[in-house]
This record gives sequence, C-alpha cells and structure tokens, in this order.
Amino acid sequence: MTAPQETQSQSAALFERARAVIPGGVSSPVRAFNAVGGTPRFITSASGAWLTDADGTELVDLVGSWGPMLLGHAHPDVLAAVQAAVARGTSYGAPTEPEVALGEEIVARTPVERVRFVSSGTEATMSAIRLARGFTGRDVVVKFAGCYHGHVDSLLASAGSGLATFAVPGTPGVPESSTALTLVLPYNDPAAVEAVFAEHGDRIACLVTEAAPGNMGVVPPEPGFNRFLAATCRAHGALFVSDEVMTGFRASRQGYWGLDGAVEGWAPDLMTFGKVMGGGFPAAAFGGRADVMSMLAPEGPVYQAGTLSGNPVATTAGLATLRLATDDVYAHVGAVAETVKTAASEALTAAGVAHVVQSAGTMFSVFLCHGPIRDFDDASRTDSAAYAAFFHSMLDAGVYLPPSAYEAWFLSAAHDDRAVQVVLDALPAAATAAARVQSAEGRLD
Ligand SMILES: *Cc1c(COP(=O)(O)O)cnc(C)c1O
Repeated sequence: MTAPQETQSQSAALFERARAVIPGGVSSPVRAFNAVGGTPRFITSASGAWLTDADGTELVDLVGSWGPMLLGHAHPDVLAAVQAAVARGTSYGAPTEPEVALGEEIVARTPVERVRFVSSGTEATMSAIRLARGFTGRDVVVKFAGCYHGHVDSLLASAGSGLATFAVPGTPGVPESSTALTLVLPYNDPAAVEAVFAEHGDRIACLVTEAAPGNMGVVPPEPGFNRFLAATCRAHGALFVSDEVMTGFRASRQGYWGLDGAVEGWAPDLMTFGKVMGGGFPAAAFGGRADVMSMLAPEGPVYQAGTLSGNPVATTAGLATLRLATDDVYAHVGAVAETVKTAASEALTAAGVAHVVQSAGTMFSVFLCHGPIRDFDDASRTDSAAYAAFFHSMLDAGVYLPPSAYEAWFLSAAHDDRAVQVVLDALPAAATAAARVQSAEGRLD
C-alpha cells in the first residue's frame, strides 16, 4: 500500500523516529493507519478545512480531529480568545469565570442541570458511571456492543457467552473483576434490554449508550429506542447515561438529544460531553439531574477530581466554539455533509460497490456492504480491504478521510465550495479503486 515516494517522505522519517520512542509511533492507536496500511501523515499545521502535512502537502480534512473541529481549524475568533487566555497564565488550580460560562452554555443547550468538567471523554464516562453507582447504591452497568465510551476498564468489555451473562475483558490488562459487573447487549434490540432488566434490574446502576453511535460507523438508534431505554431505566430505578462526547454540539446545536429527546419530551439522567465542547483542547464534561450531581464531592460523598479540570485555556476555547456554533453553522455543516454523502453514494453506485450511508444529524458514515446497519454485527460486514483502497485513493487526491472503515466523516463550517470540490473530484477514482478489491458479496448486481 505504501507508495514508493512515501519511503522518502518527511512523514515516513518522522514515523520512524516516533516508533523508536512511542509504541506504534502514535499517541492513540487509530492514527497509525494499521486499518488501511501505509504511513500516517504527520501534520504540521491546519487552517479552516485544510491540513498541511510534514511534506507540505495540503489535504482537505474529513476527520476534524475526530469530531472537535466543528468550526474548522484555527478559527480566528477562537484563536484570539485562546491567545488572550494564554497570556493570563495557563492553569491556576482554582475556579475561574470561563468554566462557569461554559457550564452555563452547556446547561442552556442541553437537559443537564449541573455539569462537572474533566479533561477527556474517557474521564467523563468513567466519572458518570462512578456517580451512577454511588447514587443508586448498585454496581451493574449495561452497555451496547460497538458503542465506545473511551478506554474505561469496565467498558472495555465484550459480550459474555450469552445474553444476560456478564462480560469478559475486551483487552489484556483489564481484569475479569473489572468487567464482571458489565452486561453487553446488541444495539437497537429492545428485547435484549428487557431481558437483562427483567433478570438483573434491581442490581443495575445505569445503562450507558452513545446517543447515536458513531464509533462503529454511524448507527442511529431506531425511532423511539432512546426513549425506550430511558423509560426502562426509570422503571427499574437505574440511571440512563447518554454519552454525547461525539454527538454533543455536533449532531445538532443541542447534540443528538436535540433531534430525539427534545422532540419526544424526555431527558437522560446523566450525559457526557467532549470533543466539540473543548474547541480542540483537552476538555470534557459530565452532567445531569441536580439531585444526582449533588452526590459529587464536595457537595456529596462520591469522589471525583482533576488537576487540569476546567482549565481556563481549554474552557475559553470551548466557550468560544459553542458561542460561534450558531444555527447557521449547523445548517452549513448539514448542507456540505449532504453534498459529500450524496456524491460518495453516487460514485460508489456508479462503480458497482455495495454500500450504505447512515446519518445522525450532521454526522454520517459510509459502510462498504449491504445495509441497513443496525448493530455491531452488521457493521462488522463492512469491507475493510475495499475501504483501504478507497481511503488511499482519496488521500492521493488530497482528501484526508478517517483511516478506518468504522468511523464517522466530519465536516465543518469551514468546508467551502473549493474544499468540497476537491472531495467530489476525488470520489469516482476512489470508488473504482474500492471496486477493484471488493469481495464478491460487496458487488452490486
Ligand atoms: C471520543 C469518545 C469518547 C472518549 O473521549 P476521549 O476524549 O477520547 O477520551 C467517549 N465516548 C464517545 C462516544 C466518543 O466518541
């Protein structure tokens, strides 16, 4: 897969240096390009819809730092706010006004009544689960296969030997005791949820789900599924934890909840946020019902803390981002997403590649297999080899797609006609490249 000139590239040289000091050469596994082959591009700068790699190549970015860059890179107003904040010092370990203002902004846009800041989405879900356990006095957590909630031990779990059996560790290093209280269910399957609540309901502290899964590719909840989850939790005295780290302030102005609970009139007990609300800095949050959140130290007995939590630079960036994320921004991101997904689908159809495009608000992803994709088993059918060929063709044409078939594609307010045109021009050849390596069952008749 590695093009000959890449062996001489600055990215290749940096990757070699990186692998000597960092496992796999990366600080987060998917960046290593293992799923698509080849050498990861090292990025030196970014502006608007564009990345510049270490060889000076400009790429239209459809990753957006895996979601945060809703406004595009280096938005001038965000930079100005951050530069002013940095000049005032970068961390005090004391409360500040920007965290209060960001908290107010989050409370205004979502059903949460109180919010606590942390530094990563992982920390947000880990803390939400501890709080749910502390509040309910129960231990069991229910999650769905294919939903990612960060690298929390108890959630790095695979389904056990059957429905309603406790999970097994999904990776070495997680002890069985960490997943022994986790139940993993297939997504979009109300009967499976009913069965585990019927058997274990009085032991379940919470059910945690992505509001609209984006980490197995985009697999939206079927109509009423989240409402059903909320009602089932309530009926059994468990908390409903909706993870909006990816969808929050991305799928819509009010996150996925704005397209779902806000319309149907229900709210999760706890929510988690990250990505967009950090404006490209390490900031995340969890929040929810005031009575539940009041269990947190120092108001209540559930311990939770962080040296850099609510960091003034990060919360300033997040606040600037959310304030700039107007209805016009969401309308633009939605429109360019529509253009790109329609063109991708047309190119794949023309090349005879079976595919399905699935969306959750302004987020979408392209599965290279027959649809619909309702759960993780379905998503696993996507043709990874065909995607790798598609990915490298797009990359050669100047488009940076997620280097894995199981990811959402992210657009931004900065994706203008020029950037979108580069994507549209690249799609037909990429679809042809995918067609060349697709498996027999991936062919359209
Ligand atoms: C990215 C993500 C996380 C983890 O956030 P990090 O900041 O990477 O720890 C958790 N939940 C969801 C839904 C995510 O997409």
